[in-house]
Amino acid sequence: MIEHILVAIDGSDHAKHATGLAADLGQRFGAKVTLVHVLSEPADFSVPPEVKAYSEIEHIKVTRRDLLEAAGQEMLDAARSEVVAAGVADCATVLESGDPTERIVARAAADKADLIVMGRRGLGDLAAMLLGSVSHKVSQAAACSCLTVK
Ligand code: ATP
Ligand code: MG
Repeated sequence: MIEHILVAIDGSDHAKHATGLAADLGQRFGAKVTLVHVLSEPADFSVPPEVKAYSEIEHIKVTRRDLLEAAGQEMLDAARSEVVAAGVADCATVLESGDPTERIVARAAADKADLIVMGRRGLGDLAAMLLGSVSHKVSQAAACSCLTVK
């Protein structure tokens, strides 16, 4: 019996397909769906100059973490609307930060998820790879079943 589905999203089309399938499964099983996005903070990311200038004029402090969190939450909220529109009554969003594999596996354990749904690939573009490193490592490390969506 599937009662709680965790969907990992990274903003890729692959993750969008995963969200669609998880929404369908969630609706059919009457399961809760939790959407998780992990901020992994690329080292080269900085606050764009126009945002910095604006924040100085308005006397507000905008950090790169604020921008990443806002973008991540927006992605989660958009995915949540899609899942709810598909007929899932109970849908939560979680924004984590750190190593994506570790955070996804830990969240699935904490939520006692029965199934993790991910894209087969993500934003990476190593065409030769069959599976991305996150989906590969999560399916190795998770205690529950994992579904990688094509
Ligand atoms: P790689 O990152 O190894 O270069 P890739 O980007 O093609 O390759 P993955 O990162 O493994 O492949 O992405 C596969 C799936 O894993 C995504 O479709 C998404 O479901 C999940 N995923 C990847 N990164 C994250 C993340 N930061 N937060 C949540 N889910 C993620
Ligand atoms: Mg990736």
